Amino acid sequence: MDVEAPLLIIGAGPYGLGLGAFANYHGMEHLVVGKFMDSWHNNIPEGLSFRGITNWHFDSVGGHSIEDYLSGMPSSGSNDRALSSQFLLDYAEWFWRQKRINVLEKTVMRLNRKEDSFLALLDDGTEIKSARVVVALDMGQFPYLPKRLIRLFKQDRYEHTGKISDMAPLQGKRCLIVGNMRSVFEWSALLHENGARAVHISMNQSGPQVEESDWSWLNDLIDDADPNPAKFKSMSETEKAEINHRIWLEGRGKIEPSVKRRIKENATWIWPHGKIMQCWEHPDGSLKILLDCGDRLTIDFVLFATGYKVDTSSIPFIANGNILNDLEILNGYPKLDGTFQSNLPGLFFTSYPAARDFGEFFAYTMAVPISSKVIGNFLLNPSSES
Ligand SMILES: Cc1cc2nc3c(=O)[nH]c(=O)nc-3n(C[C@H](O)[C@H](O)[C@H](O)COP(=O)(O)OP(=O)(O)OC[C@H]3O[C@@H](n4cnc5c(N)ncnc54)[C@H](O)[C@@H]3O)c2cc1C
Repeated sequence: MDVEAPLLIIGAGPYGLGLGAFANYHGMEHLVVGKFMDSWHNNIPEGLSFRGITNWHFDSVGGHSIEDYLSGMPSSGSNDRALSSQFLLDYAEWFWRQKRINVLEKTVMRLNRKEDSFLALLDDGTEIKSARVVVALDMGQFPYLPKRLIRLFKQDRYEHTGKISDMAPLQGKRCLIVGNMRSVFEWSALLHENGARAVHISMNQSGPQVEESDWSWLNDLIDDADPNPAKFKSMSETEKAEINHRIWLEGRGKIEPSVKRRIKENATWIWPHGKIMQCWEHPDGSLKILLDCGDRLTIDFVLFATGYKVDTSSIPFIANGNILNDLEILNGYPKLDGTFQSNLPGLFFTSYPAARDFGEFFAYTMAVPISSKVIGNFLLNPSSES
């Protein structure tokens, strides 16, 4: 079956849903393809605390912000609910229903360009022809695994934390978490809460500050960006680096005291300069690890909390299609203009792949309304390109 749609949105997470709502509101014919809130259902485990505040909503056209959602609920406990990933899923479902966004729960296998259009092949064989395609995939698509370290382990003995949502297989296991930032400690708490026997942490930096994140300073910047979306893009490299660093610090460089308290200290061992040098498998199946400080550990499984690194060429439907040679990519990120458009006319990228051009705001849900407005307004009136 072949389908034609003027606008194809690939991704049904916050960024795809936000743009779908904008398109519905303005009567723009479109298709949203992807699994509804896939990362939040499958890659972000229950118990991982949500970084964000109630004004990080998905609504660029009004009426369905998180405040609107909360106003229809009993007030007791709303603050606690606002800080969980389950809360975000509940809000997303309400938003999706209220905005009547039609989501086609399929996977794009290949994206080709033919003349002035794009052809997206879905896993059920459907081909969608669109003049405009917006790719809305998050950081979960780009887990970073340090090559030097993964070479030391067999493939079934490690995983990136962004790929684990079911922790049942780690029950009773001795785990080693590699990383330096907040997620290392959050995962340590999660592993214990899910029955891990012991947790070791290998770090090569000083680790996160124990402090509540403060996002309040960002509100002005996000609102400021509204009339001038390319503001971040036009800042000096120093200003950009300062903003990106501050966002990074609040999101990954800090850990709330409440999360710290969840760590089971008598079964957690932190190796502050514990660079992994060697690993070998003992006949009993356990892994023996030699650290550069000379200490040896016995573990069963390794978790890499080593962050994310955009690699546009690794997106399967791009790797399998015919656009890669023509698509301009810088340090793994697609090069975008002020409307999120790549050098291939009609092809846009938002969410984390837009962070190089538009800042670390795009590592979180906070930039969903801005993204929807900028891309949506341009699609409504292409001659207004900035
Ligand atoms: C472990 C982890 C924790 C996080 N915690 C927070 C947090 O606390 N606060 C916060 O604001 N952000 C957090 N984030 C970032 C979060 O990913 C973004 O805020 C948000 O989900 C990005 O939305 P999205 O729409 O880009 O992507 P997602 O919500 O991930 O949606 C991606 C969509 O793309 C679809 N897709 C992928 N491949 C294809 C394909 N081939 N064909 C069709 N569809 C496809 C998926 O099915 C899905 O619908 C976290 C990310 C991770 C990985």
